[in-house]
Amino acid sequence: MALPQAQQPAVFEEYVGASSLEEALRALADGKATPVAGGTDLWVQKDLGIRPVARRLINIRRVPEIAGISEYGTSIRLGALVTMTEILESELLLAASPVLPATADRFASIQIRNVSTVGGNIVNASPAADMVIPLLCLDAEIELASWTGNKIATRRLKLAEFFTGPGKSKRKPEELLTSVDFDAPGKDFRAGFCKTGPRPALEIAVVSMGFATYLKDGVLSDVRIALGAVAPTPVRCPKTEIMLEGKKPDDATIAGALEILDSEISPIADHRSSVWYRRRLARVYLEQELTACR
Ligand SMILES: Cc1cc2nc3c(=O)[nH]c(=O)nc-3n(C[C@H](O)[C@H](O)[C@H](O)COP(=O)(O)OP(=O)(O)OC[C@H]3O[C@@H](n4cnc5c(N)ncnc54)[C@H](O)[C@@H]3O)c2cc1C
Repeated sequence: MALPQAQQPAVFEEYVGASSLEEALRALADGKATPVAGGTDLWVQKDLGIRPVARRLINIRRVPEIAGISEYGTSIRLGALVTMTEILESELLLAASPVLPATADRFASIQIRNVSTVGGNIVNASPAADMVIPLLCLDAEIELASWTGNKIATRRLKLAEFFTGPGKSKRKPEELLTSVDFDAPGKDFRAGFCKTGPRPALEIAVVSMGFATYLKDGVLSDVRIALGAVAPTPVRCPKTEIMLEGKKPDDATIAGALEILDSEISPIADHRSSVWYRRRLARVYLEQELTACR
């Protein structure tokens, strides 16, 4: 639904091109500014009037502290400004967590990937946000920063706890998402990403699924299943995960898992899909992933 014309700023009254995290956070400190990274969600939503935009715009694209992909100890950090193209081309991710480059490969078009950031994908909080799905399977945590008490304050949150509804999250107006962190998966880990949209390219997912597990001697452990576009937020499926724990994916186990999965999701019908088709896709994806584990 479009916002009333009066709530839509015709032009931004103040523009801050931040060149450091401190500068960006100070400009955001009163909670009355809008950050922009790649702008691929923000400009569309502003023009359509589907999301309010403040009169002060903070361009965070040149904030070095929140850029780049790095490894520390056994963990991997994606700065909020990391683009889908950087994920797709990262040697570190290809070796340590290939499901992320594989997801970036299914994301939009080359032009959009070049500017779309992982931070924007998360904060936009779409139930169909692609990169969120494998990050949920990696048990990722996010870091949020604000200018508090005359210094930079940070807090960390499980990504799975961040979303509160379509387009809604626990981010406070004065906060920037600065990074996404996860433990590099160990030996015997496998993960996949599946997505269907109405057309082969530039598609928003009708349903997406991330599946990850450790697989040793044919036995599943630490199973993680995340689904997009089947609920008001991207979701993990804890009951199905628990049911699969310690099992071999034989026919009976797969059939049982599909029934539990069906009971865990609540897709809606909209202009892109019916409820029946979304449920069907979710089942097909899980069946495919489990069969591939045999
Ligand atoms: C043609 C097209 C195709 C697309 N295809 C896909 C697709 O296949 N899959 C998919 O998931 N998405 C898709 N999208 C949506 C979009 O590209 C992604 O969600 C993208 O990752 C958003 O990143 P951005 O940097 O452009 O965010 P922006 O538009 O800059 O920001 C999005 C929101 O997040 C806020 N924000 C951004 N960065 C931060 C930060 N670090 N801290 C706090 N707030 C922040 C902004 O204020 C804004 O509210 C598509 C969009 C278009 C236009």
